[in-house]
Amino acid sequence: MSRLKNKVAVITGGNSGIGFGIAQEFENEGAKGVIVGRNQETLASSVAQLGDNFIAINADVTNLADLERVFKQTSEKFGKIDVIVANAGGGAVGTVATIDEAGYDKTMDLNLKSVYFTVQKGLPYMNDGGSIILIGSNAAHRAYPSFTLYGAAKAAVIYFAKGFSSDLLDRKIRVNVITPGTTDTPAFEKFVPAEQIEAVKQHYASVMPTGRIGQPSDIGKTAVFLASDDSSFMLGAELLVDGGMTYLAK
Ligand code: NAD
Repeated sequence: MSRLKNKVAVITGGNSGIGFGIAQEFENEGAKGVIVGRNQETLASSVAQLGDNFIAINADVTNLADLERVFKQTSEKFGKIDVIVANAGGGAVGTVATIDEAGYDKTMDLNLKSVYFTVQKGLPYMNDGGSIILIGSNAAHRAYPSFTLYGAAKAAVIYFAKGFSSDLLDRKIRVNVITPGTTDTPAFEKFVPAEQIEAVKQHYASVMPTGRIGQPSDIGKTAVFLASDDSSFMLGAELLVDGGMTYLAK
């Protein structure tokens, strides 16, 4: 399998969950590149599993100097960048009555500001004709309880795919967004007590038309398509990869 042979990719949050699933599928298809994250332990274990074609860079995607360092280092190591996946992000549970200014800033910085500046700081190092993939969430399309702010940030990320594509037409850089539904990742551990995680996953699976929640590989395979020339006629598009959850759930 070599749909991404010799393509160089930068995947933020590539040390866990969906990002790692994307990195694995990219590696299967012949890509090389960088996974970016903040947890040194999972960065080391993930890059060890990916093999010699990938390196790990410890960086905070909400810090602009860190982002510059990531792209400079990637370009020095690999000579070019063909694909950027702005995947790092995470939910903030709370309502308009409970999330305060600090919580607001933190959620928006991680889910929106980081995406904008990941793309902006990557652009000087990226090839014309490259592919940028953003990661949204189906929380942008339905008002799931207590995901108001996160959903709003992700709705803006979905808009970014269109806006960035328009901004980058002269460079023939395509920007598309994948919108996952509930996917089996360590993110559950941040919101659900350990002893309830399996029950919560089973509940989600039971309401899904497909009878299962998503796996990181489901998102990874879609990202391979968007990174490859197979999707050369797509820009500003959203691919909903949610097992039917958003519009067909029981
Ligand atoms: P995860 O917690 O497994 O992974 C998140 C990754 O982001 C981790 O690698 C973490 O190190 C990284 N990260 C977080 N903050 C960072 C920062 N400031 N700087 C650098 N890296 C940082 O979560 P996941 O479920 O794999 O989520 C990945 C993306 O998918 C997120 O954008 C999330 O919003 C989105 N998403 C997830 C689901 C789901 O059900 N899991 C559904 C829809 C969308």
